[in-house]
Amino acid sequence: MAENDNMAVDAAGIASRLRELDRQIPEGVRLVAVSKFHPAQAVMAAYEAGQRCFGESRVQELLRKEPELPGDIKWHFIGHLQTNKVRQLVGHCDVIESVDSERLLDLIDRESERAGVVSRVLMQVHVAREETKFGFYPEELLEYFRERRFESLKATHICGVMGMASNTDDRERVAEDFSRIAELYRTIREDASLGLRGFDLLSMGMSGDWPLAVDHGANVIRIGTAIFGERQY
Ligand SMILES: *Cc1c(COP(=O)(O)O)cnc(C)c1O
Repeated sequence: MAENDNMAVDAAGIASRLRELDRQIPEGVRLVAVSKFHPAQAVMAAYEAGQRCFGESRVQELLRKEPELPGDIKWHFIGHLQTNKVRQLVGHCDVIESVDSERLLDLIDRESERAGVVSRVLMQVHVAREETKFGFYPEELLEYFRERRFESLKATHICGVMGMASNTDDRERVAEDFSRIAELYRTIREDASLGLRGFDLLSMGMSGDWPLAVDHGANVIRIGTAIFGERQY
């Protein structure tokens, strides 16, 4: 595992890339700085530059960094969450963005209730062409809401939708993916009969495609490489 804990962190570079992003990102869009595979010192450099919201994709890594860093950091979990890690994660993040199955959601709910916390989550939707991406298919997600299955949740608040575009240079393809994700989000959000409250986060866009995601209505973007540089896996 290459965490590079001993590598010098380019704090000035991180701060200047964050400043540049802050200049470009429209008001009302929340930046999640994706710090996965980067050491706690890199997170600290971004924190000192004013960043408070960070994204991690592995439970152990998040739990290892969290106690080394300031308590007002808001962590977003963005990776595939294995059911056997749910108990450890619950209560440690602001938002779990990557809820990719009803089984996982129900487990998060059960563990949140048990821990006496309310978990905020996003439903991850699968529109990209890659076979490997996790998430609900659009029809599946609509069905989940139309059948009002969310009403069984006791300690979980569904705050919106997260999605990823296909990993391709074809901008039309990417734009098409973002518009499908956004449309799904709006369909659910604007269905007054569901009576949802605080369903207002649309998370899409990464280093390579975030401006296009924002054009399509994203109000949460998840950027790693463009802040911290390439990851060493
Ligand atoms: C790693 C990751 C990102 C950040 O990707 P970059 O290309 O480094 O900006 C965003 N979202 C998810 C779900 C990720 O796993």
